[in-house]
Amino acid sequence: MVGKGIHARASAGNATNRHRNSRVIAPQFCRHSTMSPTTTELKHRRTPSEVTEFSPDDIDLSFPDRKLVGIDGKWYDVTNFVDKHPGGPVIEKFIGKDATAVFHAYGHRDFVLKHRKPVGKYVRRYNPIDVAFEKLERDLRAKGFFETDWTWYVGKVAVVVALFVIAVTLVTCFDAWYCHYLGAVALAFFWQQNGFIMHEFMHSQLFKDFSKDKYGGLFFGTVCFGISAHWWRDEHILHHALTNIVDVPNRFIDPQMWEGTWAQNEKMFALFQTRLQYYAIKIQHFTFVPCVIFVGRLEIVFDSFILQLERRWQEWVGWALHWVWLCTLLSHLPTWREVAIFYAIASSVQGIFHFQLILSHYCKMFAHLHEFHEMSWYRYQVQSNMNIDCPLWQDWYYGGLQFHIEHHLFPTMARNKLRAAAAYVQPLCEEHGIPYDSCCFTTALTKTLSHLKVAGSHFKLDPR
Ligand SMILES: [Zn+2]
Ligand SMILES: [Zn+2]
Repeated sequence: MVGKGIHARASAGNATNRHRNSRVIAPQFCRHSTMSPTTTELKHRRTPSEVTEFSPDDIDLSFPDRKLVGIDGKWYDVTNFVDKHPGGPVIEKFIGKDATAVFHAYGHRDFVLKHRKPVGKYVRRYNPIDVAFEKLERDLRAKGFFETDWTWYVGKVAVVVALFVIAVTLVTCFDAWYCHYLGAVALAFFWQQNGFIMHEFMHSQLFKDFSKDKYGGLFFGTVCFGISAHWWRDEHILHHALTNIVDVPNRFIDPQMWEGTWAQNEKMFALFQTRLQYYAIKIQHFTFVPCVIFVGRLEIVFDSFILQLERRWQEWVGWALHWVWLCTLLSHLPTWREVAIFYAIASSVQGIFHFQLILSHYCKMFAHLHEFHEMSWYRYQVQSNMNIDCPLWQDWYYGGLQFHIEHHLFPTMARNKLRAAAAYVQPLCEEHGIPYDSCCFTTALTKTLSHLKVAGSHFKLDPR
């Protein structure tokens, strides 16, 4: 969550061009023809049963101007759909690739492909890990792990309302400064709990339909939490699909892992170019904690509405409503000094929330884009994640994100089922020799700081 402001997003077309220059393979579909039919002709001529087989390597020559994505052994032309994709720009990173695992992980329903005619076929690489996890996903779905427990959510909303009432009461009904500052702590937990609920709406966990879920995200994320829920979702979906991915030639990195002031992995080193960044990275193990706590909230609030130039009008309305209620609350404080301290306390306490989102990744596996596409998607999700051990009664505090491995494997799974899902995932990982990392919060923090220290000590400025 803290990782924002990715400064250079790659165009998937660049990868396509590289590919085109490096291979000369006759497209199989025009083997018996002296002149290739146009893509439009192909689209209208073929039926699914007539589609021709070709591999990802052949795509550039077969469809030089089209963007194809592979799902369940079939290529789909998404050229005109990329800009309309409800999940945002993530689809561009799977052009010319087999996107089956990530497609199903996001709970896309069959109707998404119902009106799309495949333009070709390919043979999916058999991977026993993918097969095992896909089976587990089906089994857990059958057991109801993906269904919304509305009663449970009524309880969550009641907690959110109670926190808001406590914050307002402490600010408006008491004169003592310490009551006001306790109100700031209540406000921080109010923001934190809203952040969790926004996260779940923006994963379409509740209604399973983004056209409905987005309004929940807008309310809990933008109006209550105070950040652009849609902007955050675009980055978060990229984070899920391309966790800890670095693509240096296209200057792309998992946007929620990017900060201009620290380098978690040597694969990122080439992205840092200034002397100021050099000095910041050398001391990153000292700056990490205070930056996340004291600057985390301010940064995402600023980025989501200013740097990113959010254009969705609903977001601006939600943002205005957020500042109306917040300023009304702050207006009850007696001095500007108390206003500043109140907001600083609330932001800093809520800053701990940012830890929960990034601590699970920083010391884990990072990969270049080409390495990622060669691995089992499920294995990669486990190895780029770490769980935080905590007792059941602390689940409210971590918001399900302590089961980060399970959440990344099954992003649309209900929060209140993640703990039970871990009991299935861990043995499956052991069975397939996949390291399953789970430790308490202090160990996770220690591991992360040690990792940042070592990475910083290896850092050298790229002479380019
Ligand atoms: Zn994550
Ligand atoms: Zn998520």
